[in-house]
Amino acid sequence: MSLYTEVQFKCFNCSEPIPFTIWQSVNVTLDPEQKSRVLDSSMFFAICPSCGNEHFFPIGFLYHDMDKQIMLFYRDEESEKVDLESAVIANEVHEFRTLSEYKYRVVNELNRLKEKIIIFDENLDDFEIEHY
Ligand SMILES: [Zn+2]
Repeated sequence: MSLYTEVQFKCFNCSEPIPFTIWQSVNVTLDPEQKSRVLDSSMFFAICPSCGNEHFFPIGFLYHDMDKQIMLFYRDEESEKVDLESAVIANEVHEFRTLSEYKYRVVNELNRLKEKIIIFDENLDDFEIEHY
């Protein structure tokens, strides 16, 4: 399942409140519409409704594709703030990671995460590609 938290923060430019959704876990099998938002980064942009300023928050989360049987754990330096180690996510990882067909990867950059998603979508072997 997907997990997210709705937050509000003050626009750095005009101080008006901006609503923003922080995703802790994105299950693209159950929420396929979120996959393109990861790939085009729109999931990580908050746009101020008052002044139109764009704020970019590439916050870490768990990317889970049950069809492809992959779990990609994107961690960034802000990750502690969004409680990526929450019990619910730990359970999800535990439940699926132990299935032998599952691939589990940890990446530290958003671009690396996207790269992995694309590699697995093409049914390629990411280790082989990195070696190359
Ligand atoms: Zn603003």
